[in-house]
Amino acid sequence: MTTRVGIPRALAYYSFYPQWRTYLEELGMEVVLSPPTTKEILDQGIRDTVTDACIPIKVFHGHVAALIGQVDYILIPRLVSIDGDATLCPKFLGLSDMVKTSVTDIPPLLTPRLDIRDGRFAPFKAWLQVAKILGASRRKAVLAYRRAIQVGQYYEALLASRMLPGEAIASIDKWWASLGKGWLGLSEDRSSVASAQSSTEILEDSGKQIRLAVVGYPYMIYDEYVNCGLLANLKRLGASILTPDMVPIKSRKAQAQKQPKYLFWYYSNQVMRATYYFFQEKMIDGLIHVTAFGCGPDAMVSKLLELDCRKQGRLPYLSLCLDEHTGVAGVMTRLEAFIDMLVRRKGDSL
Ligand code: SF4
Repeated sequence: MTTRVGIPRALAYYSFYPQWRTYLEELGMEVVLSPPTTKEILDQGIRDTVTDACIPIKVFHGHVAALIGQVDYILIPRLVSIDGDATLCPKFLGLSDMVKTSVTDIPPLLTPRLDIRDGRFAPFKAWLQVAKILGASRRKAVLAYRRAIQVGQYYEALLASRMLPGEAIASIDKWWASLGKGWLGLSEDRSSVASAQSSTEILEDSGKQIRLAVVGYPYMIYDEYVNCGLLANLKRLGASILTPDMVPIKSRKAQAQKQPKYLFWYYSNQVMRATYYFFQEKMIDGLIHVTAFGCGPDAMVSKLLELDCRKQGRLPYLSLCLDEHTGVAGVMTRLEAFIDMLVRRKGDSL
């Protein structure tokens, strides 16, 4: 029987799912993804965690619980450093330990420690350990790793072409279905992504639509249950949306020099750098920062963004702090008021 490996649809899922899934499937595993977040999942997460955990951590625990009984293993990488500049928030570092101590009856966890500061090959060595546990050969692991890296790059390119993660993953699903084409198919698809990117760069701005950047950690801006359908509601209110992932990684990196000091946390740096890019390119009429109640790193990020918006001629800024008590009505009231103000402001300047 095929070994089933579960991936919780939370936290780093939004950044790395296609890559992780490819690696596991290339090793011959069946990947089981937990369902989209629901009230039941969040409630279970709340029961399983300490009360002062942030909402993404509670949601993550709920997703782990949703996989119990369906899988032989659950993948919870210990993400330490992805870019060598910064580490992830301490809660990511201790995630698998937290889960082990707070969720009962969980299957064995796969917890590769991913820290690029240990050397270029460190991530591969960590994934090799996963292959060993799953009984796959080294040769298979090498091929799976190469393909996973390529899929990861493809996913990043799709996000930079202004797809949301759900759309990008659906597009990769289609591409997976045609994998019979092999490496040749991959290179064709990558060139089509490149052309998609260049066409979006020259998207016409009618001058009337409200252009918003919604910044924050991927698990806050893309989990529709947690953020009360934020992106869909903003689109419904007539705004065009940009998120940090829509800025290509290279362009984000180029903005690092504008940071007076690098922040300690990977995702926080990505938020700041993407925002500086939006400022530089004059792409936005307003900025919304989506943050989790009780998030330590965001206490700093939120203040920095507010100060930076002031320096941009008092660019309108909304900080939206979410927790498990946040309701759709409250979020909508704030969004509508924000958009209203932007429309008036833009009308005055047209
Ligand atoms: S960065 Fe903030 S929201 Fe994310 S896991 Fe850490 S404390 Fe929670």
